[in-house]
Amino acid sequence: MTDRNQQLFDRAAQVIPGGVNSPVRAFRAVGGTPRFVQRAQGAYFWDANGQQYTDYIGSWGPMILGHGHPAVLEAVQKAALDGFSFGAPTEREIELAEEILKHVPSMEMVRLVSSGTEAGMSALRLARGATGRNKFIKFEGCYHGHADALLVKAGSGLATFGNPTSAGVPPEVVRDTLVLEYNNITALEEAFALHGKELACVMIEPIAGNMNFVRASVPFMQRCRELCTEHGALFVFDEVMTGFRVALGSAQSVYAQLIPGFKPDLTVLGKVIGGGMPLAAFGGPREIMRQLAPTGPVYQAGTLSGNPVATACGLATLKEIAKPGFWDALSARTQSLVDGLQGAAASAGVPFSADCQGGMFGFFLLPELPQNYAKVMTSDSPKFNKLFHGLLDGGVYIAPALYEAGFVSAAHTEADIAETVRVAADVFKTL
Ligand SMILES: *Cc1c(COP(=O)(O)O)cnc(C)c1O
Repeated sequence: MTDRNQQLFDRAAQVIPGGVNSPVRAFRAVGGTPRFVQRAQGAYFWDANGQQYTDYIGSWGPMILGHGHPAVLEAVQKAALDGFSFGAPTEREIELAEEILKHVPSMEMVRLVSSGTEAGMSALRLARGATGRNKFIKFEGCYHGHADALLVKAGSGLATFGNPTSAGVPPEVVRDTLVLEYNNITALEEAFALHGKELACVMIEPIAGNMNFVRASVPFMQRCRELCTEHGALFVFDEVMTGFRVALGSAQSVYAQLIPGFKPDLTVLGKVIGGGMPLAAFGGPREIMRQLAPTGPVYQAGTLSGNPVATACGLATLKEIAKPGFWDALSARTQSLVDGLQGAAASAGVPFSADCQGGMFGFFLLPELPQNYAKVMTSDSPKFNKLFHGLLDGGVYIAPALYEAGFVSAAHTEADIAETVRVAADVFKTL
């Protein structure tokens, strides 16, 4: 049989660098041929060979309702008939902004943009503009999009400034980026002691989904909040992945239940709020958000920002996930996947740990959940690659790299989960 996926990948490689428009899609980490998606419906998609897969990526998070949800589809079709883009304001932008603010009360105002990268980059600029400071802290293993100042890894030693992780990023651009170990309170305190008065912000993924699934510990989160407040730095939650994915109130609502009165200063959103369309946002208190152009000195703009079709898609998605019972059902489904995988791994004697929140999950081929990037990287990658391909051959599509989170949608049924666990149990026996 001719492999249409391989044919398309070869053809793509002639005109698109690496054959893909975002690197992880190329299967470099796991080897093999990327699946070219022909169409998707509910919890499944079909590749160019007509092979069906149960989808646990969901476009890396956005497809929380599954593919082709009827209410979302209708909203998008209706919006498209009224015009694709105007470069002038529309009522739906207000509706989406109001819907977001209703569920994430730390935000009083929000600006809509087109990608998580753009939102993260703009939030950083705003934090710097609002505080008049340049330096900021990020954590190793957290991804905040590919803006220059954020493509940085830790330098040598504690509390030193970082090195670029990409060619084309001048060292000067990351000179003010301080990269610390996630969940390390000592390093955090040391950094604030040295640089506290020069820090514009601390930027964090509250549940880090770009190193699979690692929660910020409650004491660590609490200390971040205290130190930011004490030193006049803004605490920026990058919830591009976790926003409207781990809970209706996003990850900050999960921490607010554990830490009374807890809230970040700025929040960055993406993925789910666009429901699969290019849409992202950042927001916070009025007095900070008014620092943005046109009311303030921090410039930020976008031709397609608040795009009418994207806002229709996002709004319809948020309306669905705000319905009673949605989160209980989604959380139960995700939990049953995690429990099932855990049981299957235990039966096969494979070291395994897993965690989940709402519709997001992660697992490691490690006996205990790691707390930082260095520990995540000790996960057995040859074994993961075997697991990945075993699942793929069995019609189960998870992220093609061990440092990525997974996603369950409302379209996944208990039968889908049971079938996935059955496939996984067979693969675990071969590891
Ligand atoms: C996906 C992601 C981004 C980047 O969003 P894009 O839309 O891919 O630019 C930023 N931060 C986090 C936490 C993400 O998961």
